Amino acid sequence: MSTSKILDYLHDPSPRTLGRSPWEWLARLHRPTVVQVAGRDRSRTRAMATLLHGNEPSGLFALHRWLLEQHTPEVNMLFLLGGIYPAKIEPTFSQRQLPAGRDLNRCFRAPFTGAEGAIAEALLAELHKAQPECLLDVHNTSGTGPAFAVTITNDAAHQALTSLFTDRLILTDLRLGALMEYSEQEVPTVTIECGGAQEEQAHQLAYEGLVRYTSQADVLSLDTADWDVAVLRNPIRVELAPDATIEYRLAPSGHADLTFPPDIEHRNFGVVSPHEPLGWVGHKGLSILTAISHNRIENMARVLRVQDGQIYPAQAIKAFMITTNPVIAKSDCLFYAVKATGDPIF
Ligand SMILES: [Zn+2]
Repeated sequence: MSTSKILDYLHDPSPRTLGRSPWEWLARLHRPTVVQVAGRDRSRTRAMATLLHGNEPSGLFALHRWLLEQHTPEVNMLFLLGGIYPAKIEPTFSQRQLPAGRDLNRCFRAPFTGAEGAIAEALLAELHKAQPECLLDVHNTSGTGPAFAVTITNDAAHQALTSLFTDRLILTDLRLGALMEYSEQEVPTVTIECGGAQEEQAHQLAYEGLVRYTSQADVLSLDTADWDVAVLRNPIRVELAPDATIEYRLAPSGHADLTFPPDIEHRNFGVVSPHEPLGWVGHKGLSILTAISHNRIENMARVLRVQDGQIYPAQAIKAFMITTNPVIAKSDCLFYAVKATGDPIF
């Protein structure tokens, strides 16, 4: 199938075509869009995807601001805006994917079925054509919290790309069909989670990282010897049973299977000792939770324990992507965890 029917293209867009705000720009975008900006060195290209999830706008906000400022990047830039269709649904930037559609960031592998598969295949074709030296995929987390990067490879190039945005790097062997798996094509690829979609500092971080990504002659060498990256390896996913109920309250009401305090997000990336309570379970105990590792082994006993109705870590853990959104908690994941050392729990 011709990709021209799937994608729109903008070459060195002028401020007039961009609108005064990202919302004006979004109103003028009608399909997943490829934006190309010519650089000083036209022999090289760097790529950045964003808005693969329609409710994660930091990357688009950053790109709009950067394009309005009419920078000349060091090398050619290729920007891929994936989730234009879900992003345009009113209220804008509220839908991760189309109501009957698939998660676009699970579609970057064959078979490329359905509308999202076709978009993913067309975006991969653009990458193949441009042969970028590296690729970023800029997202937001569902709640609030600090930024972090996710990769499937931990070498100097991936650390250098991460260092443009954050000093936390999550390394995973899990393969889901995410764009970051493009890393396996020998192109350093990093997913950047800028922080919460509603957070001004997440938008600012995306912008500052984009400026660094486009303005430095070399983004793949780590020359700052003192860059102190915290690498978290193969986190386990803690999931809530689909029929379980969750509340965010300072004390359990007695009606929910799981209760977390409303400020549970403050635990993100901190070490939680085995003596610090995380929340409460109802009479079903921990049976409403599953802990799944990248190799699909489950062993909740090494992650959490219950004492007098309260949940404690079974050992010192580092948890992250803790959500206070009950919809995300039930449909995706409650939180991820590694040992306090950053090593896998399993
Ligand atoms: Zn996302």
